[in-house]
Amino acid sequence: MDDADTNCKTHPDAPHGFMRDASHSAGRYVCECESWEPPKEKQKPVAYITGFHNGHCVIQPTDPAVVLPVGMALYRAPREWVGLTDEEMGEVVNRLQQQVEKPAE
Ligand SMILES: [Zn+2]
Repeated sequence: MDDADTNCKTHPDAPHGFMRDASHSAGRYVCECESWEPPKEKQKPVAYITGFHNGHCVIQPTDPAVVLPVGMALYRAPREWVGLTDEEMGEVVNRLQQQVEKPAE
């Protein structure tokens, strides 16, 4: 098989391997690396809320070089989504199938 037939990721840490179930349902060779995502670098906070002064929030940058312009919006860091394993996915599908196949009373 030449490279054009695979969707392999080029990341050096990407795991490669034949995924039987996924390949079977996709009708092609599905590699482990396709559902793999490179680990995200942990983001360091740029500032901390240090308290309140006269009813206003006081924010202290962790690095004096970090410029926090007036009016800058702060966002919560997104929660990291942890995907289901193949086993968990299969379990979910089985449960749904059981529900569908269960005769209505
Ligand atoms: Zn691969």
